[in-house]
Amino acid sequence: MNNIYKDFAISDEVFEYCEKTIESLKERFEKIDRTADINQLKVIKAMQKNNVSEACLIGTTGYGYNDIGREVLEKVYADVFHTEDALVRAQITCGTHALALALMSNLRPGDELLSPVGKPYDTLEEVIGIRESKGSLKEYGVTYRQVDLKDDHSFDFEGIRNAINEKTKIVTIQRSKGYQTRPSFSVAEIGEIISFVKSIKSDVICMVDNCYGEFTEEIEPSDVGADMIVGSLIKNPGGGLAPMGGYICGKKECIENAAYRLTSPGLGKEVGASLNINRDLFQGLFLSPCVVANALKGAIFAANIYEKCGFGVIPDSTEDRHDIIQAVTFNDKDKMIAFCQGIQAASPVDSFVKPEPWAMPGYDSDVIMAAGAFISGSSIELSADGPIKPPYSVYFQGGLTFPHVKLGIIKSFQTLYERNLVEIPEF
Ligand SMILES: *Cc1c(COP(=O)(O)O)cnc(C)c1O
Repeated sequence: MNNIYKDFAISDEVFEYCEKTIESLKERFEKIDRTADINQLKVIKAMQKNNVSEACLIGTTGYGYNDIGREVLEKVYADVFHTEDALVRAQITCGTHALALALMSNLRPGDELLSPVGKPYDTLEEVIGIRESKGSLKEYGVTYRQVDLKDDHSFDFEGIRNAINEKTKIVTIQRSKGYQTRPSFSVAEIGEIISFVKSIKSDVICMVDNCYGEFTEEIEPSDVGADMIVGSLIKNPGGGLAPMGGYICGKKECIENAAYRLTSPGLGKEVGASLNINRDLFQGLFLSPCVVANALKGAIFAANIYEKCGFGVIPDSTEDRHDIIQAVTFNDKDKMIAFCQGIQAASPVDSFVKPEPWAMPGYDSDVIMAAGAFISGSSIELSADGPIKPPYSVYFQGGLTFPHVKLGIIKSFQTLYERNLVEIPEF
């Protein structure tokens, strides 16, 4: 074993098991590299086409009129995702805000929102009004319908057909499973459901919550008919450099509605100072395809390490990936805690901190979170969390470089091993 791992207190047998696992994943990693190639070139092409120049990297203050960096960045996003227009802003505070903005700006009283793929992400419940909240869509007279997936997680086409009516204005599709146990959808599956919806009602706006999905495949939901795709810049497309922000890419009219709602009717995209973040947003987007590839390799590595030990992993060790999230089910509190403490101990920031379960607002049980990130809350950086309740599942994601994710997973396994919570399986 290379001595450097000894500096991290990794034992020989743990290292050997992990190395053998990585050895066995060569072909899968090559496939991920090919996807990264295509997405990297897509980004470079879009930057060249729009003449990104040094002047684009500096920002504005005050109203932010004539912010060429911001304007060119939005054109680059639109070209990368093959959409008519884009809104990419620091003033969009997070993914939930971007989704709420896309919905609230494109729905009017009397309209109906439909989710044909079951319950949306937790934080959207208050946006929609599934859970009562001030200023929800429900409060403004927008109704909501939901068609759950069938027991085998397939689309309930008959149910969707019946749910679409004259009021249906937007259909919202969440690409990533988030904290649910269903599989994440491939872009092809998303395309299938969009075609079906449009065959019933052609003018419905199809919006995709693209969080955690960007650059995991060679095409995006906007390539298969989505009218809007929405996400967070402290996840995939920010490449770890974006310090904040969110994006909406899509049809011109949808983006104009969103811009008028974000700033003000009449002002729209014309205002919004970018301060000093243009450089990081450009460079982060540039790095993103390879960062996403590193995170994917880490997720696959972890799935293989833990599946072999008998733990439940979603996605499993061999499945194709449509997002960067990996769930590991431990069915045991101590194992879950050991995993998170190992991830934390491998971090470049706050490695000396030992995460412990804690009560968090909005959760009905204690939660444990491991994160040693340069950008607060960034989940394109290596991070893990989960509620301390059966089945004791940890959701982990991210990792800017593969050597770091690899160390994180090895360290998590070492921590379980030292506490006699896992045995090293035969290879
Ligand atoms: C993270 C996430 C969100 C919300 O994003 P925040 O930035 O945490 O507000 C919405 N949907 C999905 C699928 C996500 O992963």
